[in-house]
Amino acid sequence: MAWDFSTDEAFEEQLVWMRGFIREEIMPIETLSLNHDQVVRLIRPLQEQVKSRGLWAAHLPVELGGVGFGQVKLGLMHEILGQSMYGPVVFGNNAPDSGNAELLAAGMEMTGREDIKERWLTPLLSGAIRSGFSMTEPNTAGSDPRLLKTRAEKDGDEWVINGRKWYTTNGSVADILIVMEVSNPEVHPYQGSSMFVVPVDTPGLTILRDVGSMDDPDVVYGRFGNHAEILYEDVRVPADHLIGPEGSGFLLAQTRLGPGRIHHCMRWLGQSQRAFDMMCERALSRYTHGSFLAEKQTIQNWIADSKAEMHAARLMTLHAAWKMDQVGASASRDEIAMIKYFGANVLHNVIDRAIQTYGSLGYSSDMPLEAMYRAARAARIYDGPDEVHRQTVARHALKNYEASEVPSDHIPTRAAAAREKFADVLEFLEADSA
Ligand SMILES: Cc1cc2nc3c(=O)[nH]c(=O)nc-3n(C[C@H](O)[C@H](O)[C@H](O)COP(=O)(O)OP(=O)(O)OC[C@H]3O[C@@H](n4cnc5c(N)ncnc54)[C@H](O)[C@@H]3O)c2cc1C
Repeated sequence: MAWDFSTDEAFEEQLVWMRGFIREEIMPIETLSLNHDQVVRLIRPLQEQVKSRGLWAAHLPVELGGVGFGQVKLGLMHEILGQSMYGPVVFGNNAPDSGNAELLAAGMEMTGREDIKERWLTPLLSGAIRSGFSMTEPNTAGSDPRLLKTRAEKDGDEWVINGRKWYTTNGSVADILIVMEVSNPEVHPYQGSSMFVVPVDTPGLTILRDVGSMDDPDVVYGRFGNHAEILYEDVRVPADHLIGPEGSGFLLAQTRLGPGRIHHCMRWLGQSQRAFDMMCERALSRYTHGSFLAEKQTIQNWIADSKAEMHAARLMTLHAAWKMDQVGASASRDEIAMIKYFGANVLHNVIDRAIQTYGSLGYSSDMPLEAMYRAARAARIYDGPDEVHRQTVARHALKNYEASEVPSDHIPTRAAAAREKFADVLEFLEADSA
């Protein structure tokens, strides 16, 4: 029987290296006010180190230039990379490029089209081009992609796309966008939606703005990590820009979102651990009302609750990763949904407690906590709002039950049934004790 919570020795060595690398080489970059191009140049030698250790783009199979790690290894790796906002980009697996690479790879697998690799996948993996994923629309509920309105209509050898999208992360710095839209309104959206590669310089495509957000209220257009609002007006793309077969949009989305959620959750744990470390350090250092914060029960409760919640989230996430490796994304749907809302809330709560422990310093931008908190708030919305995942889990759980007018565990009813079941024995026992 295998029930093993250990990491194999060779991989543990890689993790040890990653921990040191993130702390010594990557975290210091966070404190410098650099623009995107400066960051790109600064991190290039670091990316080379990652490549030379065989850890670049580890989410993809070897034949596509990745490492072919399963989800458990990737999860453990993302827990470390997630500690710094620059971790994923230095390791060649930052969102949305990593998810988009997986979509392109899935499209290749579905169609056997090798040209996708050369045209988009290899340049994306090498960092030669950048990408965005354009699904959410301002005027339809992103939580229910069956309502998408953006249309793609076939016209000869081309598809013509019309619609409006927003929150396309990195849209304003991307070279290509992967756009999801309705390609056949006559059938159910699960069969009638498709994804296309749309180069950003295609006529008819207008990037209207980068949307200011809680993360960046005074947004400056064209920065890495911004979220673009994009208008598609008679945007024409050749038929070979379709990823996967026509109608496979939802299938592709599932391919992308399953592993992506595991990686998000593990990165959130990296962030939570960082906030936890800060909280503990402050608790031991700040003296008030006759003792250090660490000696006050409320603070001890925050530390104890945070540790337990992070531990639970970690076990749940690694279990979901393990299950995905064993039986695939579809059979792991509930586990993936549970870690999404559980993990997002753990992240939020741990950072919130750390800020409270620091008081005014925690609220100030002299500490990274306030920025971490703003980013954490989004985690409850993106990748499907928490409520939708809860609904999925509850719906599946309820399938195992039936309505019953009298509760199955109603004690008087059960007692009557038990008396009937054991009538002979009870008669004997009562007679015996009389
Ligand atoms: C930081 C960030 C980055 C993003 N990046 C991208 C990107 O790169 N590409 C992209 O396409 N999109 C992106 N998004 C958009 C994201 O995917 C959507 O915001 C998300 O799917 C929710 O859609 P919505 O905002 O339209 O909310 P709505 O669908 O309007 O939902 C609003 C609220 O309604 C409630 N709700 C919805 N359904 C239910 C239900 N069944 N039961 C109970 N309550 C419910 C929830 O509380 C939900 O938060 C990003 C969003 C954020 C915040």
